[in-house]
Amino acid sequence: MAESDAKKPLENEADFGGPKFSPTVCEQRYRFVIDAVKKQKAARVADFGCAEARLLRRLKTLESVEYLAGVDIRVTSIDTGHLTPNPVEWMIKDRPRPLQIQLFKGSVSHPDSRLFNLDLVSCIELVEHLDADVLADLPHSLFGQMQPRLVIVSTPNSDFNVLFPNFQGRRHWDHKFEWSRSEFRDWAGNVVEKYNYDVTFTGVGEGMKGAAERYGYCSQIAIFTRTTPDPIETETYQNKLNPYECVFDQPFPYQNSAFSQGEKLSSEIQYLVPMLARDTADDVDPQHLRDSVQVSIPIERFLNYRKASELCDGNIDTLRKMIAADCAEFVQLSSDGNAILYSVQRRSWDSADENDGGENDNTVVCPSSIDSEEEECWE
Ligand code: SAM
Repeated sequence: MAESDAKKPLENEADFGGPKFSPTVCEQRYRFVIDAVKKQKAARVADFGCAEARLLRRLKTLESVEYLAGVDIRVTSIDTGHLTPNPVEWMIKDRPRPLQIQLFKGSVSHPDSRLFNLDLVSCIELVEHLDADVLADLPHSLFGQMQPRLVIVSTPNSDFNVLFPNFQGRRHWDHKFEWSRSEFRDWAGNVVEKYNYDVTFTGVGEGMKGAAERYGYCSQIAIFTRTTPDPIETETYQNKLNPYECVFDQPFPYQNSAFSQGEKLSSEIQYLVPMLARDTADDVDPQHLRDSVQVSIPIERFLNYRKASELCDGNIDTLRKMIAADCAEFVQLSSDGNAILYSVQRRSWDSADENDGGENDNTVVCPSSIDSEEEECWE
């Protein structure tokens, strides 16, 4: 082993020797949040410190969820492809309820009114990555201003570290601290003293038999529950403060027999247009050098698609009228009415080579591979 490797801090539980976790502690944390969302039948959910959005991908499949937000100060490594409806979802539309997914570039230490009064917020392995000033602002922002009904906070339990024979330093190079159980309780106790919340403690990742009683869990978890049925209308809410930058906003198709024919057509057009336009844009600008390419799609092409054709009874004039009436937010008709005009933006991942991945980069990048074991098991 090179000397520099020997000094490099270890980064996940499997590296430390000692207790083996199956499933991984990371997976156990995700399952904990997923179970809580199911139990609460939570509809509006956010994940702060969402990193690669692995938890969001899982949450989007839950029936109760209608709004999902991911917030992180870095949004460069999110593969948004996993957060976009696939063609089958567009065709089958089997979600019983609507779903909208939004990703925000922002800090948990600043409240945003769009995330006011959510049903559930998770902060999984986030707090230990925060500098002292950011950590100090978190309670006011989250519990004092945004006031979700339920908040799940997980963080490494430093009492547990004695069970790792190869352990030294901290579990991850970016941890600013690791709390013992009593330090975590003190922090949570201060939160509930100041804001309208109760807290209970648990954890995931048990050591050998009997170890949990003595050392607690590998990841300690606090569950904060708002004690008032309704949140207080804070200045963030009243002044509609929106410091976060929305970098991704995706509605999902869903069953709704109450949809009008025009709304059904609009949903169909929203699926078909980007698909048809992108192929054309790739032909026009194969190197993707332009920031946007305006594409004109002959309207008759849409009659080749069964659903679109059925919705307008195969009549091109009806189709034209429906597009003008119901799809104006999304597409434009050409002046002669014979084509749909749509502007294809250069995808952020087309320009990945130009992206240095720095802190200030706000593009959502689709890296070619992020599925390494190391990333799977953050500390
Ligand atoms: N929650 C993720 C999971 O369990 O898969 C992993 C979280 S990772 C250990 C910590 C994340 O917190 C990083 O993605 C980091 O960019 C993010 N982060 C750091 N400071 C933040 C802040 N002030 N607000 C929001 N996210 C922050």
